[in-house]
Amino acid sequence: MIIFQNSKLTLFQSALYQTNTLLYDAGGFLLLVDPNWLPKEVQFIRDHVDEFHSGKSIYLLFTHSDYDHIIAYGLFPEAKVIASERFQNSLRKQKNLEEIHQFDQQHYLKRSYPILYPEVDFMISEDEQQLEIEGELLTFYLSPGHTDDGLFTIVESEGIFIAGDYLSDLEFPFIYFSSEFYIETLHKVDTILQNHIIQYLIPGHGHFIKDENSEILLRKNRDLKYVEDLRSAILNKDKFPIEDWLSQFPFPDGLKEQHEKNEKQVADDLN
Ligand SMILES: [Zn+2]
Repeated sequence: MIIFQNSKLTLFQSALYQTNTLLYDAGGFLLLVDPNWLPKEVQFIRDHVDEFHSGKSIYLLFTHSDYDHIIAYGLFPEAKVIASERFQNSLRKQKNLEEIHQFDQQHYLKRSYPILYPEVDFMISEDEQQLEIEGELLTFYLSPGHTDDGLFTIVESEGIFIAGDYLSDLEFPFIYFSSEFYIETLHKVDTILQNHIIQYLIPGHGHFIKDENSEILLRKNRDLKYVEDLRSAILNKDKFPIEDWLSQFPFPDGLKEQHEKNEKQVADDLN
């Protein structure tokens, strides 16, 4: 499960959708981001924390409330939770929990811990809000678009940009909330690269990037083009070149259905 490790960072990746879990050991405390998916995988992460990073307080960061990202909250009952204000005030809490339940039922999965919606201890409500934990500075930007409650986080000392479900190399944007906000959020990537020294990009799914800001910009510009072109195609009743887009990704079949959902979402946005 471990796809990258150095003295401070451990990056775990699930077999499902190449979903990433970041563990950052700040010395005095741990920052654990979106621990996920399968029961054995989340137990592996829990055991890893207990074996190699024991005795440190855990801060759980949730990049957004999609069910795959909050699925292991109940396995870290002692952790303090960081998330956006909209995450805390979400009206979809019950729906997210229901999706976890359905997933586990469908796949005959048992979990050793309760399925709960995270209670937020540190609520983020605006861009550039900062949180200092034991001398470690975290800077946040709200990232609505994929969902309404997304959060970008920068770990300043190591230059880690935690993006949640944006900037993946495996998929074009999944627009569940708003294409307008999605575009606005992608523009924040420029601001982040200008105002912070970024060494790592950790997306929710797929390959992380190290020391390659040009690659981050390539992903951003590609995603921006997808959303902007989809908006203008729907506005002008033009044909969107979906086959060209699908051919850029390693798992195109799974993306087709998502594109159709995006079309509906963008049509709603433009109404
Ligand atoms: Zn998501």
